[in-house]
Amino acid sequence: MRASSKKLIIVLICLACLILTGCAGKEYRATVFAMDTVMQITVYAKDDSSLALCRAKINDVEKMLSTTYEDSITSRLNRGETVTAQEEFIDLLSDCRKYSGLTGGAFDITSYPVVRLWGFTTGEHRVPDQQEIDEAVGRIGMDNIAENVSGEVSLMNGAEIDFGAVTKGYLGDRIRDILTEQGVSSALIDLGGNITVIGKNRGKDWVIGIEIPSRDESGLAGTVAVSDTSVVTSGSYRRYFEEGGRVYGHIMDPKTGYPAENGLISVTIVSPDTEMADALSTGLYVAGLEEAVSIWKETPGFEAVFITDDGTVYVTEGLASCFTINKDYSQKLVIIEK
Ligand code: AMP
Ligand code: MG
Repeated sequence: MRASSKKLIIVLICLACLILTGCAGKEYRATVFAMDTVMQITVYAKDDSSLALCRAKINDVEKMLSTTYEDSITSRLNRGETVTAQEEFIDLLSDCRKYSGLTGGAFDITSYPVVRLWGFTTGEHRVPDQQEIDEAVGRIGMDNIAENVSGEVSLMNGAEIDFGAVTKGYLGDRIRDILTEQGVSSALIDLGGNITVIGKNRGKDWVIGIEIPSRDESGLAGTVAVSDTSVVTSGSYRRYFEEGGRVYGHIMDPKTGYPAENGLISVTIVSPDTEMADALSTGLYVAGLEEAVSIWKETPGFEAVFITDDGTVYVTEGLASCFTINKDYSQKLVIIEK
């Protein structure tokens, strides 16, 4: 046999091995109730050993960040303690400063006093009076978080924080990293609608649905076909309350202290960086369509689908070829160009 034929055979065998190891994995799934939501991690792998590591990570992150754990760093800071925080926490804090800057303050983890005031932490919802709102807004601002080089963090001026707008994104990236390190090359990480995908779905793009942003209608407004990325949606059609014939959603405008209301009813961000997608879906929802589009034009690393209250679906150009609208939901599709 000639040397070149031998080489070709070896290459073919290697390719066959790659295809077999890449596709032959069995499906394993972990379902976890955490962070007030159902999380599902589906992997295609030789065994389910990676899933135990994911469960442990979910637990660790919840214990570090959640306001419902008394001993979390967040709760300790909110009680006025000075906390020496681990590197992961400091890094997340610094990312949150970046997202706050990117969105002109629309994303702000110090919005917690107003989130609490409107009863979104306890479920005892109410419309506060203006004086209470002014008092709570006066305690908002990323400058009220102090940290030093030794990792000591504290809050000033009565500030309180909550990572609710970014925790699932942060966790999605950590789980993706764990699975990738474990050699998993195909997975769907669904953290209560915050989706991160690894690789492809048995050779094809993952098709991820974007919900109809409605309080009483279910189904999909559209889908995106993607691989190796994340798809994260924010909206106020699931977590809200009604009083005096008005609807109040759970995403707050830190500048006014009122639920954000500016014509946007759903913001989906598609980005390989799940944490960024989570932060920006919340932040751009608050910012409103016009501001959101100009932030998209200036910021590399993400694409978006915006839905406004008249049912128009705006899709940034990077998603034009992978987004499919559900025509029963809307016929109004606008592609936004840079
Ligand atoms: P998400 O579902 O990711 O859009 O996050 C919404 C959650 O983030 C709310 O339930 C609050 O806990 C918190 N939150 C509300 N408004 C803001 C805001 N403007 N910036 C950051 N976090 C917020
Ligand atoms: Mg978010």
